[in-house]
Amino acid sequence: MKRRDFFEKSSCGLMGIMMAYFGLTSCKKKEEAPTVEPAAEAPKEEMSRKDMVKKMLIDKMGKTEEEASAMIAEFEEKLPMVKDMCICKTCPTYVAEETELGFCHPFIGKSKIITEEKGCVCPKCPVYLKMGLKNGYYCTRKSEMEQEMAKKS
Ligand code: SF4
Ligand code: SF4
Repeated sequence: MKRRDFFEKSSCGLMGIMMAYFGLTSCKKKEEAPTVEPAAEAPKEEMSRKDMVKKMLIDKMGKTEEEASAMIAEFEEKLPMVKDMCICKTCPTYVAEETELGFCHPFIGKSKIITEEKGCVCPKCPVYLKMGLKNGYYCTRKSEMEQEMAKKS
């Protein structure tokens, strides 16, 4: 069976294949599925966070599927720059056990380790200034996008 036929007959589009990879569907079991290599560079946590952000864009911000996809692509493109420029490590709130950076970014958001707020240097960060961010304490209060959404709900 051609790969295209397989996708159509098994209802396993690209999203189905991705979900099957993460064990969320029985897609692969329906028939001898062609081997589709998952995006090796995308860790599980990042994938689920991306899906969550996309859902928020559609459900809470009224974006269309197309608009949300374009925004996700833009967020993805900006993530390395955000992490590179992040100055969280110089912040009194940052803890030695933390390894993550760029908590303001929607794909990162709240830290799983940092809980105590001891000051926030975000307003001095080049990312903050360049992106015109308005909030802070992203490591404890979630990303800029989530904080802005919370204000509107
Ligand atoms: S604004 Fe804050 S969380 Fe975002 S990159 Fe800068 S220091 Fe890090
Ligand atoms: S998000 Fe703000 S409070 Fe948290 S570590 Fe970064 S600079 Fe500090």
